[in-house]
Amino acid sequence: MHVFGLTGGIGSGKSTIASRFRARGLPVIDSDTLARAVLAPGSVGLAALVEELGPWVLQADGTLDRAAVARLVFADSTARARVEAITHPRIRQLREAQLLALKRGGEPLVCNEVPLLVEVGLTNVLRPLVVVSASEDHQLARASARDGASLEAVRARIAAQLPLREKVALADHVIDNDGELCATLARADEVLAAICRTFEIDPERYPRP
Ligand code: ATP
Repeated sequence: MHVFGLTGGIGSGKSTIASRFRARGLPVIDSDTLARAVLAPGSVGLAALVEELGPWVLQADGTLDRAAVARLVFADSTARARVEAITHPRIRQLREAQLLALKRGGEPLVCNEVPLLVEVGLTNVLRPLVVVSASEDHQLARASARDGASLEAVRARIAAQLPLREKVALADHVIDNDGELCATLARADEVLAAICRTFEIDPERYPRP
């Protein structure tokens, strides 16, 4: 089974491409979803985080105060390392379990969507690497409209990541998402067909929705 990578910048269109791949029947493992799962209400991971940082990480209803923890790790690299020591091994374990299940199910190809794929050093592991790119103006407009966040807040999140052009420079396939959605989806289909050819997988396995 081959596992390729999908990444990009904030609001560049990663989830849009992942949805297209899923609609064509390709399994996609989304690292953001795994990261949420390991800190879900009642999870061992969430209990470990409370133990490590204190009960302030919980909201009144017992769920994770994601915004408060995000503020802390954004401002304090030591705290970030303490949080990651709890989350990363659990995310890895969950990912391995999902990959194993897909392999046992006979899947020849899997996409792994990882927002910080390049930043965490997975470029050599997840090949081919697909990078979804968009201009900063589009990133700002789309992410702020989607999240109801200010342009300033989105700009700060973009600045905290590696510049998108550096990710594009490392890509095997780039999906330019500055145009109409239908053009982006057509390009995603092309890229999926090219990856299938690389691994001698019949592209008809993933028919158009
Ligand atoms: P993040 O990392 O911030 O979660 P992302 O890279 O996964 O973002 P998406 O959620 O796919 O990005 O896209 C951001 C927003 O822009 C979404 O609301 C999506 O519907 C919209 N969008 C994506 N591509 C286009 C496009 N070509 N035209 C118009 N809107 C788009």
